[in-house]
Amino acid sequence: MKISDIFKTKKTVFSMEVFPPKKTSKIDTIYDTIERLGDLQPDFISVTYGAGGTGTGSLTAKIASDLKNTYHIEPIAHLTAIHTTRQQATDMLHELRDSGIENVLALRGDRHPELPIPGDFKYASDLTQFITDFGGFDICGACYPEGHPESEDLISDVTNLRPKIDAGATHLISQLFFDNNDFYAFLDRAKLAGINVPIEAGIMPVINKAQIERMVSTCGASLPRKFAHMVSRYENDPEALFDAGIAYAVDQIIDLIASGVDGIHLYTMNNPRVAHIIYTRIRKVLEASNKA
Ligand code: FAD
Repeated sequence: MKISDIFKTKKTVFSMEVFPPKKTSKIDTIYDTIERLGDLQPDFISVTYGAGGTGTGSLTAKIASDLKNTYHIEPIAHLTAIHTTRQQATDMLHELRDSGIENVLALRGDRHPELPIPGDFKYASDLTQFITDFGGFDICGACYPEGHPESEDLISDVTNLRPKIDAGATHLISQLFFDNNDFYAFLDRAKLAGINVPIEAGIMPVINKAQIERMVSTCGASLPRKFAHMVSRYENDPEALFDAGIAYAVDQIIDLIASGVDGIHLYTMNNPRVAHIIYTRIRKVLEASNKA
């Protein structure tokens, strides 16, 4: 199923992200995770590509294929552009198509100093156009409520989304954020820039100290006072931080759904227990939204 069709039938889409296990871990660990996430009947699960040094393209394709063909969950396979040649992208798209996968999240990807940059794709929009020309896929793109770290300003950040949409992206998934007002302000800018595809809000439940430190250094999300208070108060009490982090994410999600967001994309960090707790607390709200 094409993800754009899901947005046509549901008021609030609920999806999740998983990542392939690191090269040093067994691939089987992901299947236990997927099985347990499957109980929550997400509208789709996206599978990252090479993010944070995890997995390879073929692992992404394999996991996406198993999601579709074994677990009967709609997958989106991520594909990054910057270190990829046209030939590699073609091979990956053939592999995905042969497995019946119909959805790709086209990304530029982050620069890894040790990897060559072939120069075939400069921006995500170049890869999006390439996938559109290849044919047969629904294409999703990334967006940044607080602006992409390389953007000159918040306005050019949203106008730079335009080529992605023009090249064929039919929906966007946001980077994680901790202040819903940043997301609402971004939606206003996107609307002014004529971006009218569905935009899902990316939510990451923060449940331990290591995760907070990693996130601040990698994605640059700002930490609102309420969040900072939570962290400083409970950072040395893992159980309290776990409960508080879940409550924070649930609070964000309920506010977003009540405000009419197109979808919630949960960054699960391959932790089905956290996803289960969150889902249990938002299930009725999601159902009410989709009934209305
Ligand atoms: P782009 O849309 O190309 O934007 C990159 C920068 O270029 C931005 O500053 C943008 O404003 C600017 N820009 C874009 N087009 C133009 C233009 N025409 N002219 C001038 N400037 C322009 N990384 C991974 O490695 N693997 C993953 O699986 C992965 N999954 C992700 C999933 C989501 C939902 C998100 C939000 C991010 C993900 N990332 C992943 C991280 C992402 O690859 C990085 O944030 C990367 O730096 C930017 O990717 P992009 O697709 O947004 O790039």
